[in-house]
Amino acid sequence: MDISYIINELAEDRENYYNAIAPPIIQSSNFAFNTVDDMRHAFADEYTTYLYSRGRNPTVDILRKKLAALDGADDCLIFNSGAAAIFAAVLANVKQGDHIVSVNKPYTWAQKMFNVILPRFGVTTTYIDGRFIENFERAILPNTTLIYLETPNSWDYALQDLQAVAELARAEGIITICDNSYCTPIYQKPIAFGIDLTLQSATKYISGHSDVIAGILCGNNKMIKKIFDSEYMNIGSGIQPFNAWLLIRGLRTLPMRLKHITNTTAAVFDFLNNHKQVEKVIFPFDKDFAQYDLAKQQMSGACGLMSFVLKADSIDQVESFCNNLTHILMAVSWGGHESLIIPKCAGMSRAHFNPAKPDHRLIRLYIGLEETEYIITDLQRGFNALLQ
Ligand SMILES: *Cc1c(COP(=O)(O)O)cnc(C)c1O
Repeated sequence: MDISYIINELAEDRENYYNAIAPPIIQSSNFAFNTVDDMRHAFADEYTTYLYSRGRNPTVDILRKKLAALDGADDCLIFNSGAAAIFAAVLANVKQGDHIVSVNKPYTWAQKMFNVILPRFGVTTTYIDGRFIENFERAILPNTTLIYLETPNSWDYALQDLQAVAELARAEGIITICDNSYCTPIYQKPIAFGIDLTLQSATKYISGHSDVIAGILCGNNKMIKKIFDSEYMNIGSGIQPFNAWLLIRGLRTLPMRLKHITNTTAAVFDFLNNHKQVEKVIFPFDKDFAQYDLAKQQMSGACGLMSFVLKADSIDQVESFCNNLTHILMAVSWGGHESLIIPKCAGMSRAHFNPAKPDHRLIRLYIGLEETEYIITDLQRGFNALLQ
C-alpha cells in the first residue's frame, strides 16, 4: 500500500463527518444502541463493535488502521504508553513456568517486567547478546515461549538478525516480539521478516512533537484479537481519543520529518566523527559499525539517535560539555522536534565515575528538526567549554 495513501486517506471516512479534512475527536466514553438486539450483539463481541471506549473508539480506530498498514500487519492496538504495549504483549504470551529469552539491555521497563514482576509468577528470563544467532540457540529451553528483541538498541545500537531469529523461533514454536521504536515502520518492518509482534513507543517519532505518551502493538488478527479480549481490556490502558488524534496529526509529517532528520544526522555524524575531542561515535549506518552490513540489509534508514564518547579526563569536563550547550536540551526521550542529550554519567554517582571507562564518558545525542548548522554550532560550544 502506498505510504502517502496510508497517511492521508486510509480509514478516513470523511463523508461521515461533513467532509472535514481532519477527523473528529470522538471524545465519548460510551455508545448508544437502538434495540436490545444491537446491544446484545455488542456485548457478545466488543472487538467488532462500539460499546465503551476502553475497548473500541472511532478516532482510535482510524489510527489503528493506518499504523497496522504501515507495519504490514493485519491489526494493531494503541496503548497509553509504550511500556503498556510491552506489558500487554509479553503478558499475553507467558504463563506460569514459562521462560523468556531477551536481548541484553532491552528498554528499562521491559527489563523491570522481566526482573521484578514476572518472577513472582514463575516466569524466568535469560538475557543474551543478540548480535549472534548461536546465543539464541543456546538459550532456548524446552519451556521457552517468548523471544524479546529490540533492534537496534537505543543506546549501543546492537542489532539482531530479524529473519534468522524469526526462523529459529518459528521452528521451535516460540513467539517473537520486536521493539521497533528506533526505526519505526518507515525504516524497518519486522513483520516482513517473520516476527510475530512488533511494538513502538509512539511517544517518539509517531507523535514527533514531545507532547504525547503512547505505544503501538501490531500483529496478525488472531494474536491482536486475543490481546484485545484479554490484556488490553483488562489492563485498561488504551489510548484516549484526543491523544490518538494527535498521533494521526503526527503521522501526516512522519516521512518528511524522518527524511530531514536523516540528512541532518549524516552531517552531524561527520562533524562528530572527525572531531578531535571525540574518541568514538556509535551509529548503525556508520561503515565502521560492527553490524553495518546487517543494518543495511534489514533497515532502509537510520537517523536521530547516535552515541559518542568524549575525550575527557574528568567528570567535570563531561559535565562542562553538557552544561554549556544552549540549544540542545538535556532531557530523556527522543523523536520530537528538539535535539536532546543524555550523558551516561547522569545515571551514576560522581564518585563512581572512572575516566578510563569509555562508557562513563558516553553521551547519547538525539537530532531533532533544527537546521544542521544550529546543532553543530551548539555542539562546538560544548567542546570549547570542555577545553577550558
Ligand atoms: C521510550 C521507549 C519505550 C517506552 O515507551 P513509553 O512511551 O515511554 O512508555 C520503549 N522502548 C524504547 C526503545 C523506547 O525508547
